[in-house]
Amino acid sequence: MPETIPTLPDTFFENIDQYSFGEIGFAVAKQFIQNEIPEGDLKSIIDNFPDFDAPLVRLEEGLYVLELFHGPTLAFKDFGARFMAGILSHFVAQENKELNILVATSGDTGSAVAGGFYKVPGINVFILYPSGKVSEIQEKQLTTWGENITAIEVQGTFDDCQRMVKQAFTDEQIKAKLQLTSANSINIARLIPQSFYYFHAYAQLLYEGKTATGGGRGWDELVFSVPSGNFGNLTAGLFAQRMGLPVSKFIASTNINDVVPEYLQSHVFSPRASQQTISNAMDVGNPSNFARMKELMPTAEAMQEKISGFAFSDDETREVMRKVYNKYKYVIDPHGAVGYLGLMDYKKNQNVNGIFLETAHPAKFVDVVEPVLQQKIEIPDHLQQFIKKKKNSIPIANSFVELKNFLLR
Ligand SMILES: *Cc1c(COP(=O)(O)O)cnc(C)c1O
Repeated sequence: MPETIPTLPDTFFENIDQYSFGEIGFAVAKQFIQNEIPEGDLKSIIDNFPDFDAPLVRLEEGLYVLELFHGPTLAFKDFGARFMAGILSHFVAQENKELNILVATSGDTGSAVAGGFYKVPGINVFILYPSGKVSEIQEKQLTTWGENITAIEVQGTFDDCQRMVKQAFTDEQIKAKLQLTSANSINIARLIPQSFYYFHAYAQLLYEGKTATGGGRGWDELVFSVPSGNFGNLTAGLFAQRMGLPVSKFIASTNINDVVPEYLQSHVFSPRASQQTISNAMDVGNPSNFARMKELMPTAEAMQEKISGFAFSDDETREVMRKVYNKYKYVIDPHGAVGYLGLMDYKKNQNVNGIFLETAHPAKFVDVVEPVLQQKIEIPDHLQQFIKKKKNSIPIANSFVELKNFLLR
């Protein structure tokens, strides 16, 4: 958790619609990083980031989608991975030593990390994934990078991969030879850049000439609906609000893994095992960012003031995917659909300007989306590129010794 979250000056908000995404990113990152990284260096990190946009798309008056799926692996996690890569490579360059990143993945995190660190000088990435237990598209997104990215295909489960990674971090011989780090999602460097796009969304609304009915350049009511699992994205939004972004409410939209909406109702937090759903990146029973949320809003009452929570079933999710397609000819993925549902529930009683986050491209979830819409989904070019490429992995047994031998080869 940052020690303090300083607010941005009024002039920043007055001129925000004239700033590029990169300029917004720099102004925001500066507040967090302070003097830990010299300004010139931070600028060059941000200059390379993000090289993909987060466009705001209008569905109708007062209803917008923030598309966060234009990165290399078509999900919002690309923002965090790319920024973290920039920050780490800054420190690596200072130390003049190679850094090795070990990450176990059940699918999506590994490819976002690979995309973020691809061709970053001085950094090697080793991704362990369970053989036969990721989808074909996911496997291609893990195994076709080349260069500094190595995919290690483990004859075992995700838990085996995770256990082997943990063991590597404590092995004296490996530590003596290789400088190791993890790309764990609790890392604050992955959260900071996720606050950039809340400002960027606001800037795009102003740019559109959208002003509040209440006058001036502010908004009567601006709400963001965030499809949530570990609540990193929503926490990043709370940071943006602390820094001065005029958001009146966040909507915590979840699938049936609803510990946070439940907490907002009952004031009791009861983490439990997760249940599988069609919005599987949000199948989290004990959200790791809840501790950060509690630090910003220590009581349930304080949290209720800032956040409304709603939870939805898979059937509701499928139904609304059809509804949105029929009404707007716009395809949403199951995660974005949960965000849309939360926003609609909130809007029933409040006439607000609402933005829901679309966290992944629908093509990533063709298996769910196509049967629901009875419609072929267009696979974007850069996903096609992955699919066409040849898989290249290092197969190893479910054995730490094999991993160790490979790393020390
Ligand atoms: C990770 C993920 C989420 C959940 O985000 P959190 O920050 O963990 O709440 C939502 N949608 C998609 C597509 C994701 O990959």
